[in-house]
Amino acid sequence: MSNSTMEKAQAVNDYVLGLRHDFHANPEVSMEEVRTSGIVVKELEKMGIEVKRIGKTGVLGTLRGAAPGKVVALRADMDALSVTEQTGLPYSSTKPGVMHACGHDVHTSMLLGAAKILSGMKDQLKGTVKFVFQPAEEIAAGAKSMVSGGVLENPKVDLIFGEHVISDVEVGKVVVQGGFFMASGDTWKLTIKGVTSHGSTPWQGVDAITCAAAVIQGLQTIVSRVNDAREAIVINVGTIHGGDRFNITPGKVEMMGMNRAFSAKSRTSMPVWMEDMIKNICAAYRCEYEFKYDFICAPLTNDPWAAETVHKSIAKIVPEADIIKVPQAMGSEDFSEYTAVVPGMMMFVGDRNEAKDCKYSQHSEHYQVDEDCIPIGVASYVQVAADFLS
Ligand SMILES: [Zn+2]
Ligand SMILES: [Zn+2]
Repeated sequence: MSNSTMEKAQAVNDYVLGLRHDFHANPEVSMEEVRTSGIVVKELEKMGIEVKRIGKTGVLGTLRGAAPGKVVALRADMDALSVTEQTGLPYSSTKPGVMHACGHDVHTSMLLGAAKILSGMKDQLKGTVKFVFQPAEEIAAGAKSMVSGGVLENPKVDLIFGEHVISDVEVGKVVVQGGFFMASGDTWKLTIKGVTSHGSTPWQGVDAITCAAAVIQGLQTIVSRVNDAREAIVINVGTIHGGDRFNITPGKVEMMGMNRAFSAKSRTSMPVWMEDMIKNICAAYRCEYEFKYDFICAPLTNDPWAAETVHKSIAKIVPEADIIKVPQAMGSEDFSEYTAVVPGMMMFVGDRNEAKDCKYSQHSEHYQVDEDCIPIGVASYVQVAADFLS
């Protein structure tokens, strides 16, 4: 079975690479994956897979095996980022300012490759494979829309398996592990309001920039002095805008940021801790404030049973020594929306190869994937589904 799955993945590799280069050259940002999802629908229909559109750009493919049985879902995301590509690849983005800089083009094409193989194995499958092509992972809205669109129900999914290529891990290796895997990602916006005055007479106004400087310093002491050091968090002040002219005492500063956490306690405490700090510093500096906090993306925990189940299948594709574990990532993944409902496991697929210049991090304008990882990713989707339904 093992070798045959890898052989099948090699046999569809030209098909997968063709799709990947086309998606890469034609990237679409979150919730605008119209062309991409159109191709996904067309390809799934060619394979004889039942297709349902979810929202504007989500796609669910359903493949029913010869006999009834369990239900496995395989997930890929389709959206690109607002980045201007600088790789110089022959299939570089043709759209200025938009790039597949996270590798979602790889995921979409790998899952189509797996669908092609699995549709040919229909007679051997006991149960159902659901192919979940979601939009908008980068804004953590896509998985929510797929779950509310019912992709995990009718029939109910017993296991969901997702893959993400990753620039930190060498090509040939994959990451399979249970437990906390990726952090939450929650956004906030703070407006500090003072009183504008002539820059020569700050005492006639209330300086919002000096207050903002104190707030920024204060926020970082939450990480080091307030939070339990055993439960990692990040508070990131990502933008700060204030002031209009060099000779005006500024009356307003706006900041935005994104926070990360694993534990529910730290995650839900952060807005409370932040507001406490902001309120008291603003009072000391005679400023007023508005603070808005949005819980966007929950931490991703790989179900231990799912991780074990997936590991057994992946061991048929990749040598044990190349199935590795990594420190939990502070980045976020909206795959957590699925694992909040059904047992699931997200695998990282190494795509790093410095010799081929595939050494830049995800979201970089230079980000490149060593495409030797693609047959591994395709075979992994297939093996996990085939084993689960055998
Ligand atoms: Zn990303
Ligand atoms: Zn991504």
